[in-house]
Order: sequence, then C-alpha cells, then structure tokens
Amino acid sequence: MSPSARRGIRKKTTVSGTGLHTGARTEAAFLPAPAGQGIVFRRVDLAGKPQIPALLSEVEAVERRTAIGKGESTIHTVEHLLAAVAALEIDDLTVELSGPEPPILDGSVQPYFAALEQAGPTETSGEPLVLTVPAPFTVSEGDSSYIVAPAKELRLTVSIEWPHPLIGRQAGSFTVTPQAFARELASARTFGFTSEVAALQAKGLIKGASSTNAIVLDERGLANGGELRWPDEFVRHKAADILGDLALTGARVRAHIVATRPSHGGNIALARALTRAAQRGGAPKMDIGRIMDVLPHRYPFLLVDRIIEVEGQQRIVGIKNVTINEPFFQGHFPGHPIMPGVLIIEAMAQVGGMLLMSYFEGQNVEDKVVYFMSLDNVKFRRPVVPGDQIRFELEMVQFRGKTCKMKGAGYVDGQIVAEADMMASVVDR
Ligand SMILES: [Zn+2]
Repeated sequence: MSPSARRGIRKKTTVSGTGLHTGARTEAAFLPAPAGQGIVFRRVDLAGKPQIPALLSEVEAVERRTAIGKGESTIHTVEHLLAAVAALEIDDLTVELSGPEPPILDGSVQPYFAALEQAGPTETSGEPLVLTVPAPFTVSEGDSSYIVAPAKELRLTVSIEWPHPLIGRQAGSFTVTPQAFARELASARTFGFTSEVAALQAKGLIKGASSTNAIVLDERGLANGGELRWPDEFVRHKAADILGDLALTGARVRAHIVATRPSHGGNIALARALTRAAQRGGAPKMDIGRIMDVLPHRYPFLLVDRIIEVEGQQRIVGIKNVTINEPFFQGHFPGHPIMPGVLIIEAMAQVGGMLLMSYFEGQNVEDKVVYFMSLDNVKFRRPVVPGDQIRFELEMVQFRGKTCKMKGAGYVDGQIVAEADMMASVVDR
C-alpha cells in the first residue's frame, strides 16, 4: 500500500458490547476526522466529553490490557480496536465511546476490522507519519524482550511459551498488510486460564470475561468445549496485540520486530523505544499540486512553492523560492531587485492559510477562503533578493470558531527576514 497519503474513513460505523475488564456495556462509534488529527478517543458519557488521543503519553496501565487516559476518563483495553486501525493504516479517526472500555466482542480484532472496512477506509490529504529504524536495537521489560531491525514493511515475529498442553512453545512470523492481517491475525482471540480467574477478579479485572469472548483454558484444554481457530491462535493473538500497542506511537511502524514473550508492558516499552530510535520519515508535506488544491491563489500571486512540515494543526513550515523571474522584480526596483516586504508577509499569510485550512479537511475547501483581518508586530529584518529561499514557520496561537491567531517568521539561510502576528478568518466564498 502506498504510504503517500494519510487515510481516514468515509462514514460512521458502530460496534457495541461488553468490556472485558470493566464488564460495562459500551458503544464504540468510528467517525471520520480531519486529516492530521490522528486517532482520538472521546468519552461521550462524561461531562465535557473528554478527548484522549491514542498516544504513548496517555498510557495509564498495562496489566493484562492497555489503558489510556486518567482517572474517571480512563479507557481500558484499547489494543484490539487499535490493532484494526493500524492494520488498515488509518491515520485519522475519532472514536466515540459511551463507556470506559471498547467492547471485547468475540475476543479478537476481527469485529473492529470488519466495522472499519465497512466505514470505507479512504485516502485523505497530508502524508502519514512513518517510523523506520536506522539500526537494530533491543528492548526488554520484565519477561518480555524484543529485537528491532530495519525493514521496509512491518513484520512481527513472535514467540510465546506457556506450560499448557494446547500452547507450549508457539512461534510465528507475520508481515502486516491489511490483507495479511485479515487472513492471519484478525480472528485470533484473547485467552485466559481458569486458574487465574479469582486472582484477576480480585484486582477488579476481567469482570466481563466469558467463554464467548475469550479462549478459556483449564489444566487440560479448552474449558468450555469450543474449538481453536488455529492450533497457534495464541501466538497470533499476541502478534495482533503488539500491532495495537504500537498504534500508540501515532505513526505507521516499518520495522521487523522479533518479540519473545510479549506483554502489554513490554509492547509499550517497545513503542517508546521505537519513537526514540526512529527516523520520522514521510513527514507530512505538500507539493505545489496539493497547495493549489487548497489555496485559490494563482500566478502571479501564488507565493508558496512547498509545504515541508505540518505538525497536526499546530505548526506549519513552507518554502518560497525567490527568482529573478518574479514579476514584481521588474518594477521593484529596476536595476536593484528586492522583494517587496508586503509580499513577504503575503507569502507568510498564504502558508498560514494552509495551516488554517487543515481544520476544514474533509469539507469542501473550494468553497472557503481565508481572509486576513489584522497584522501586528510586523518587522522586516533583512532584504530578500533573487536566489533566496524563504522558509516560513507559523504556529497556531489560538483558534476559536472560524477565527485564528498565528505567529509567523520567515528565514533565509537561518537568518530571520520578517516576522508578524496575524489574525485570520475562514469565510465561505
Ligand atoms: Zn489482546
């Protein structure tokens, strides 16, 4: 699959059921989200509908599940839902929950994968964050250990060991593409042992567990009769869990991960190590074609050549290459070409317009236009001449309703040439 565009979904889908650990009945709704948002959960059952981004910084607990958020707004057991999101390479998504834990369903990732497929995964704009590693490294956490090696795609080689007649030592190696995930990992269910039930329940866990939402094992075999979906369903499920936990990097991971006795605690340590070691490739950027899709300006008044960085909806970096062929050099000034200061600010404003328009992703931006309302603290520090490349960096300071405040600066060869605080508003054409 081409990593060239971010992916979201076209329409809302929902799943509902009981949470494995809390036993609470919860509906999980997948909703389209603006490009660049990332994966964000929203607890719609709580006052203020708190949002919790699916990121490592939000991880609260890793015992027997991965929980994110804090206190009352904690969301338990996000890993199966997130495994489906990661398998389908969805970068932008809002997940509304009516309770504290996405439903466990049949104990596998499959129902989430099916719901997201039904939601119509689709390319949006901007480039996805992709994590690659420059060199091999190892991670260990408790009994879990991992070797990470550079690779072009995500490959999970997993081995587990349990002193149980149905498990013993199992190992498998899986390349993660949407198709391979659907075939080899999605349907593998979580599992537990009857001997652990009392201890886990005493800790307030597995309140919603039953023989219909997990493989339950007693000393001899399957406690509830049933059948395994694969003889090595256990190791397949552990591979799916790793994928779900890695989604908390907020990026698509491209590496070969060799995991021995993985656990949620280990997977999260692995994810943190990956973000530290990784080269963030394919950072969001836009070429002139994409810029012209968003901005209505045309020659001779389109003053942005490239967008080279976008950090969510907070910061943007754009480039303007200034050549002697710019029409304004004919008269400004004959024999002494310098770029008019107000056009430097105009170029800065156009880069800011790209940042502002990112809030309206998914809507028809052709119907919208950015009006600048005020400029403050404008300073021109240095003339810009033919051959200069101006690098504009803008930060969103505040965004309310349709009006925003941004702080911008332009640099040539690392030297500031102009700066301004700007206020702008998005209006319908
Ligand atoms: Zn699991």
